[in-house]
Amino acid sequence: MAKEQIADPGTFALAQGPSGWGERIAHVLLTRSPLGKLVRWVASIKASVHAKLFSGYMLVTLLFLAMGGMSLQTIAKMSAQSQLLDQAHERVHWSQDIQHALALQMNFTAMALLLKDETTIAKILRENNRFNNTLARLERFARPEERDLIQRIRTAQESALTTVADIANFVRDGRVEAAMSLQLNKEYPLYLQIEELVDQVVKREQEKMDSLRASVGATNQRSLIVMSGFVASSIMLAVLLGFVISWSFILPVQEAHGFVTEVAKGNFRATINVPNRDEFGALADRMNQMGKELHTLYENQREATRQLQTLNEQLQQASKAKSEFLANMSHELRTPMNAILGFIEMLLDDLYGEIPPHIRDPLVDVQVNGKHLLNLINEVLDLSKIEAGRMELALAEYSVQDVVDTTRASLQSLAAEKGLELIAAAQETIPLAFGDGKRITQCLMNLVGNALKFTKKGGVEIWVEQKRDKLLYRVSDTGIGIPPDQIEHVFREFRQVDATITREFGGTGLGLSITKKFVEMHGGRIWVESELGKGSTFFFEIPLRVNGGKPA
Ligand code: ADP
Repeated sequence: MAKEQIADPGTFALAQGPSGWGERIAHVLLTRSPLGKLVRWVASIKASVHAKLFSGYMLVTLLFLAMGGMSLQTIAKMSAQSQLLDQAHERVHWSQDIQHALALQMNFTAMALLLKDETTIAKILRENNRFNNTLARLERFARPEERDLIQRIRTAQESALTTVADIANFVRDGRVEAAMSLQLNKEYPLYLQIEELVDQVVKREQEKMDSLRASVGATNQRSLIVMSGFVASSIMLAVLLGFVISWSFILPVQEAHGFVTEVAKGNFRATINVPNRDEFGALADRMNQMGKELHTLYENQREATRQLQTLNEQLQQASKAKSEFLANMSHELRTPMNAILGFIEMLLDDLYGEIPPHIRDPLVDVQVNGKHLLNLINEVLDLSKIEAGRMELALAEYSVQDVVDTTRASLQSLAAEKGLELIAAAQETIPLAFGDGKRITQCLMNLVGNALKFTKKGGVEIWVEQKRDKLLYRVSDTGIGIPPDQIEHVFREFRQVDATITREFGGTGLGLSITKKFVEMHGGRIWVESELGKGSTFFFEIPLRVNGGKPA
């Protein structure tokens, strides 16, 4: 049934069912999720296809740029944190260095008491310097609350150094006991105090480094989560954008396809309705307009066909009436004509007394013209009977040889009058044929009559042969021939090649068309080969036995 409308106004109706898996999923998404609305919304944006595509690509590009920017930021943050971690590590290292220098300092002080030499005392001073330098470096990066601790270390270290100097002097003076007592009572407790303070520093630096490490780990994890979220949402957004934009173009194309299919099926009432306000929308409007025009054209054409049909029927009726009129008229004309010819015959045979010679000649003229007129009436009668569908063949067995002989006998004198040679023969082996022998004789006589009429010198040859279950009749002459452009017309009613020639030779232009019709009624065909100025050969081929030889 014709589809009145493909889609509801402002909606896509998915003209065809989805074919592949991809399209099936898209179909579900478009009909059962808000994506369908989004697609319609994008389609209804008043912008060109180019602008829509460009905006889509720009949006995706911006997303990727933002993703790149975010990655760079994360990398910068991570590198700053690893720098901080490095510094913390270095400070832990320094505080451990101080610890080490202090231990060596204590060790060398004890050794100086045992060895009592200057080299060991110098080593104490060197370790002291290392201690002070490293402490100074640590102080530079220390937080305010640590500064106090460092200050206390420094004060204790200074008094330890003063005590070491006193011990060194006692050692140089050989007062070992005084040096040992100073070492045990002052220097050693001082070292213990410093060691405790340095331990605190080491511990604090270590703690700071641990907390920094933990915060770097947490930051890294957070960045990873944020980045993955961003990447995932960017990809989702890009896919969504691609889906929505592409379907806002695919759907009108599918609608157009549905519309064209409907139009191709002959449903010119089909319309296409899309919400697009872009080139696709304009195309849909044009297609609707085209559909309307096609519909109008189709209706006009239907009306014209209807009128033509009515006219044709009227023409057929008129033609039938004409044929019937002609058939009736010819029949009515034939009877008096035959009577007239009969009376003239009797007059000429002197049945009404002897005819004076000066009356005989005009009477012969009346007889010749009367016969001609009767012939014409007969032809018109035949043609109109055939056209009115009232002509029937009298099917019976007949001899082809008889057909040839009758034709020759009838036309021999005409040929002789014109000084033309008439040769007529048939293949001897032809068996009895089945058809309307009288009509076939009439056909052959028409062809031979024409051949004699249109030939001035030379002759006419008749030949019939059997070709399997067919008979081939051939009439060739050495006459005026037929121009190539006229050959296909000679078998039509009232068609004569040239009016001047006809005037010279006489005739009505009905003979060949009647012959053609009789041949066709026998299930055969007729054709001609001719060369202008050299002659023509007419052929007709009919079944040896019409309808297989069974009486109709
Ligand atoms: P008619 O002979 O009465 O004019 P036909 O239907 O028998 O009508 O022939 C139609 C026309 O075909 C003729 O007028 C003539 O121009 C052409 N024609 C027919 N037979 C021949 C022929 N043997 N040679 C040349 N022209 C022919």
